[in-house]
This record gives sequence, C-alpha cells and structure tokens, in this order.
Amino acid sequence: GAAEPYVGRFAPSPTGPLHFGSLVSALASYAHARKAGGRWRVRMENLDPPREEPGADDEILRSLEAHGLHWDGEVLHQSDRLDAYAQTLDELQRQGLAYRCQCTRKDIHALGGVYDGRCRNRVIKPTEPHAWRLKLYDVPEGCPEPADPYTWHDLFQGPQTLSLRRDVGDPIIKRKDGLFAYQLAVVVDDIHQGITHIIRGADLLPVSAGQVASFALLGGQTPAFGHVPVALNERDQKLSKQHHAPALDPDRAGANLWHALHFLRQNPPRELLDATPEALLDWTREHWRNDLVRGMQARAPEAILNPD
Ligand code: GLU
Repeated sequence: GAAEPYVGRFAPSPTGPLHFGSLVSALASYAHARKAGGRWRVRMENLDPPREEPGADDEILRSLEAHGLHWDGEVLHQSDRLDAYAQTLDELQRQGLAYRCQCTRKDIHALGGVYDGRCRNRVIKPTEPHAWRLKLYDVPEGCPEPADPYTWHDLFQGPQTLSLRRDVGDPIIKRKDGLFAYQLAVVVDDIHQGITHIIRGADLLPVSAGQVASFALLGGQTPAFGHVPVALNERDQKLSKQHHAPALDPDRAGANLWHALHFLRQNPPRELLDATPEALLDWTREHWRNDLVRGMQARAPEAILNPD
C-alpha cells in the first residue's frame, strides 16, 4: 500500500529544564522528521507528579521555541490521557494479558534484575496492594505471540536481539501507587498519535524491546525506532536532572544547536557557530544525514558542560 505519512515525536518528562542531552534527542527527532518531509509532535510525559518539577513543562516548551524547534499541532499532555490508559488496562485485563504483581524492587534485584513472571500464577486479591504487569510472552490464546528471541532493527544502532523472557521480562503497566506506568502510556500514546518513527536517546534502548513487542499486543503498528548517543558529563554520567545537568541558555540557542549537531557527527560548518537558530535549522534540514549518527554515548562538549 501507500507509505504511511511520517509522524515523529519528542516526548520529554517535565522533571527539569531542557538540557543538552534532551536537546540532542529533540534535534535528532526533528531533523529525522523534517528530512523525511514528516510531521514532528511534542508530547509532555507528565505522568509521575512526584518526580516532576513545577513549571518545568512550560520551561521546556519555551526553550524548544527559543531553539526554533517548532512542533506540529497541539502538545499532548499525558495527564489528559488517564481515561485512555484505564480503558487500555481494562481491555488487557479482559484479554488475560494483564496480571497483578506484588513483587518489590528488592525481589526483582534478587532475581538478577529481570522479572521472571512469578506472579502470573499467583492469586492476588484486588484488596491486597499490587501493581499490574503485561504478559509479553506465553500470551493467551488468540493474542499475537511475539517471537522469542525478539529481533528488530534500530535505525542508528543496527540489529537488536533480546529474549523477552530472559532479558526483558513483563513490564509494569500500572504501579502499586496507582499511577499508570511509562511503559503503558508511551505505547498507548504512540499508537493514538499515529507515530511512525521514534528517535530518542540510547538510554532508552534497553526498554525498547518490551515496547516494540507491546505494539502488536495493544493493537498498533510498530513504529521504526532509532536511538542516538547519550550525552555524558565530565564524570561520564548521563546528563540528567539527577546529575545536575545545566539548563541550556536560550540566549545561546544557535551555539547550543551547533554543538548538538556536532555531537550527532553532522559536521556543521564552523562559521555557523554564531548563527541564529533559524540559520542552523535551515542548514540541518538541508544537510542532515542519518548515516553519520553513531555510538551509544559520548562526552558533551566543554562549552556546554562549563558555560562561562
Ligand atoms: N519521557 C521519556 C524521557 O524523558 C522519553 C520517552 C520516549 O522518548 O519514549 O526519558
């Protein structure tokens, strides 16, 4: 049939301001979409109030605008999607694809980090505290059984193979504290928004097998996935709020974009270092090359880590 129209997305969690690592993901997904003549959407993943910072969502959106990264359509807020997640959970329960789990973090750690599905066969009363998990393998009759090992192709990292049973394990889809889990919301929303391409940081590569496999179980088409290198600080930690990544200075939006392009190995010309964001994005739409993006992680540039 006709090729689907390209729809990409950037899906930040409002846990803090936009930093260089998130700019790299935003720019890569923007460039990949625009190069393909596609649409580019922003989704605010505000599903976990305890981890969020008041005002961070507006701050992220203003910073994207200051960097000239204008999105298509309205921003989708996950906080407006709770009914959709609840409906999906109902449906999964009805199909026998969801089950209650009482295991703690400590239990999972003792299992070597991958959940072995032990609560699949336990009877847990609705009145006992519990999370919900999704069956990724040995699914009930009539549901599409994902292949195990599961193989897919990452646009930047190449072929990937993982065993859903041994390496991934059934993901939590609703947490013990009653919040819907990222692993459910992300797939429900990617299906809802018709996302065809997911370009994001390589820190999410480990959870992508479970997501890739979930699309079929949730009745959607699996998008293409591409993971770009994660930006590290001087101590080789992922830039993040937890490690005090500095917020990007919107007054240096052009230089920030230049450094992000350079980080993504796009060879932006030196003379564009002082250019406007618009000039840098014009250059990007013209010259972006998917084949130059490589690697799982790299050190962020000095100018970003220690702005004067
Ligand atoms: N909201 C997630 C994060 O900021 C990213 C989700 C995704 O791109 O799938 O880490």
